[in-house]
Amino acid sequence: MSELTLHVVGEEAMTDFGAQIAQVTESNGIIFLEGDLGAGKTTLSRGIIRGLGHVGAVKSPTFTLVEPYEIGRYRAYHFDLYRLVDPEELEFLGIRDYFEGQALCLIEWPRLGAGFLPKPDLTITIRPHDEGRTLTLSPEGSRGEAWCAALALKFK
Ligand code: ADP
Ligand code: MG
Repeated sequence: MSELTLHVVGEEAMTDFGAQIAQVTESNGIIFLEGDLGAGKTTLSRGIIRGLGHVGAVKSPTFTLVEPYEIGRYRAYHFDLYRLVDPEELEFLGIRDYFEGQALCLIEWPRLGAGFLPKPDLTITIRPHDEGRTLTLSPEGSRGEAWCAALALKFK
């Protein structure tokens, strides 16, 4: 099983797809979100977090670096490292704690945390395409591969 590529048009289709991702992850794992400013990383994250059952706002954690969610028995952490000046700051944030135990970690701008982040189960790269976006899902390891296999069945 390798990469999965999809074309997603519109904000609603994007959050719907996020909800599908939420389902296959069962709220446990690490997802890197790659793409320029305005690509749709936060929109997709919002869909994933709402897909886990969160009701209400999902704000961009640009200024807080991380936004935690407790959704019943699920936990999610949404990171945006865009304003991170030095990846070492992640140590002071207690970054390791976020990756222990059962939680879904969504990380925008993971490159800015290089050296201080664990390997992702999945990297989603978002690129503008016509009116929509092209999403490339690249799994790493068996967990990410299982997610992509499950998503491929839904979107064939
Ligand atoms: P990022 O977090 O990558 O900077 P955002 O999630 O804030 O980007 O999205 C930027 C804009 O792109 C929003 O106005 C959003 O509605 C729009 N957008 C997101 N996904 C799609 C899509 N699949 N098709 C069209 N527009 C989209
Ligand atoms: Mg964003």
